[in-house]
Amino acid sequence: MTSESANPSSTPAATRSMDDIVALCRRRGFIWQSSEIYGGINGFWDYGPLGTELKRNLKEAWWHDIVRCPGRGPDGELIDMVGVDCTIIMNPKVWEASGHVGGFNDPMVDDKETKQRFRADHLQGMFGAIESEHAPAVMKFRNNLVDTTVIPLRTFIASNPSEAVSILEHDKRMQKDLGIRKIRFTPEHVGERFRIALADIGDGERCYYIDVIESGLLEKAAERVPSPYTGKPGSLTKPRQFNLMFITFVGAVQDEESKAYLRPETAQGIFCNFWNVVDTSRVKVPFGIAQQGKAFRNEVTPRNFTFRSREFEQMEIEFFIRPDQANEWYRFWRDSRYAWWKSIGLAGDNLQLREHEKEELAHYAKEGAGVCDIEYRFPFTAPGFGELEGVAHRADFDLKAHANACGKGDKLRYFDQERNERYFPHVIEPSAGADRGTLALLCEAYTPDGARPSGVFMKFHPRLAPIKAAIFPLVNKDGMPEIAEKLYMLLREKWAVQIDVKQTIGKRYARMDEAGTPYCFTIDSDTLQDQTVTVRHRDTLQQERLGIDKVQAFLSEKIGG
Ligand code: ATP
Repeated sequence: MTSESANPSSTPAATRSMDDIVALCRRRGFIWQSSEIYGGINGFWDYGPLGTELKRNLKEAWWHDIVRCPGRGPDGELIDMVGVDCTIIMNPKVWEASGHVGGFNDPMVDDKETKQRFRADHLQGMFGAIESEHAPAVMKFRNNLVDTTVIPLRTFIASNPSEAVSILEHDKRMQKDLGIRKIRFTPEHVGERFRIALADIGDGERCYYIDVIESGLLEKAAERVPSPYTGKPGSLTKPRQFNLMFITFVGAVQDEESKAYLRPETAQGIFCNFWNVVDTSRVKVPFGIAQQGKAFRNEVTPRNFTFRSREFEQMEIEFFIRPDQANEWYRFWRDSRYAWWKSIGLAGDNLQLREHEKEELAHYAKEGAGVCDIEYRFPFTAPGFGELEGVAHRADFDLKAHANACGKGDKLRYFDQERNERYFPHVIEPSAGADRGTLALLCEAYTPDGARPSGVFMKFHPRLAPIKAAIFPLVNKDGMPEIAEKLYMLLREKWAVQIDVKQTIGKRYARMDEAGTPYCFTIDSDTLQDQTVTVRHRDTLQQERLGIDKVQAFLSEKIGG
């Protein structure tokens, strides 16, 4: 694709093989299968020494730029942001109020021959082929004992209970008459065709209503849609619901009462502590609460290395604003999060910002400002993209839901002193994955180069590189190891650096190329004479001499710190 070759700093996704990247990750200790000696466990991954540093650098860059040193908002004021660190297991009522217990389900189908499992709504043709819009038409139907004239306005199929459908938003009259803005499905409605219609109820009175006009569509579609693995229709099972939350039990007895969940997102810990933060910090709307931490989803089909894992880490911001500020803050977060991923090395054509179509909305309410994904073109999604971070206007859905569910309701409205009014703040949520981010950094950094002994080097942004510099005594004698160790002891106070005395210098460079170390300093016989070292630049392979007393300042300038 032309766009892929337009930016030389970004390796086109098509030329990067995921197998090669996974092999390097394994060989060099970035990422391993969890419990590998027992054959692993599907959907769980461990980070080795290099991967741990890389992921930690990503999380620290995020924490630094978001919580400690955020910039200015659209109003020109410095952004107010605080951090929290909440538990993985919360009171189960949290997940009822948030909609996860009822709505966090995916319909899935199995291929009977290959035993592969898919999300039904990911299956091409599952819905598209059977969806249709009724042209407005007048028909008669018998409703109880009264003959009624019905005008069907629109039909739609409930495809996934975790999605709300906003089909009503264009028709204010219909919204008002139906008393709803969004239709949220429960799992049993998946695969049912709904109709919105206008009915003549006699004496010139009309009313809008919604009803189910056909059921079992998912089952019928599964019979008809060809399996992506066998290409044959009829090899898929009927879709079944699958709740993505891991269940556990708190206490000695395992029954309904002691049932609890591993959190499927970090966001709810933030919402539940919103009032604590307001009461104990000096924050005022607009302000944000940030959290990093583990989340767990019993994904139907974990795959694509760490991209879809069952245990993963999130980096989430809930930014609380006045309802009338939603648009400007939504645009601000959308653009600044996109710019941030660029700033840490995903600068090429492999990164894109995609606004959601209205139909794709998630299960929480959204009333206008928007939802977008920041996406990366992974080798396994190319030429398509996969989500790294979602930015969503969640309105006041979560705060209100928790206020109502805990029984305090409107009493928990935020008091805005400046305006002397009470309201539930709206929320803009930028929600990113630390593991998907790390994977994108690995894929982006992977740079084949036949001219090097390693055949490849990892071109990490220096800020993210797991090892910032390596120190090599050319030979393990003549006082060189001692000078190297002294330099190492000085540099390690500030940066992740390594000293390596083994093997030939070429092999040591090759190891550092695979680790993505931006600079190597070699102590050789000249060092003994003139106190200079050789600096080798990872990306250009250039070498230059530098006074040993200048090394620290050199790294500060190149890397910061
Ligand atoms: P997807 O549609 O890919 O399942 P999602 O829209 O459900 O993702 P969110 O609920 O918005 O994801 O979660 C926010 C972020 O958490 C995602 O952008 C992603 O980076 C990360 N994330 C979500 N699910 C997983 C997973 N199974 N494995 C790794 N990271 C994940």
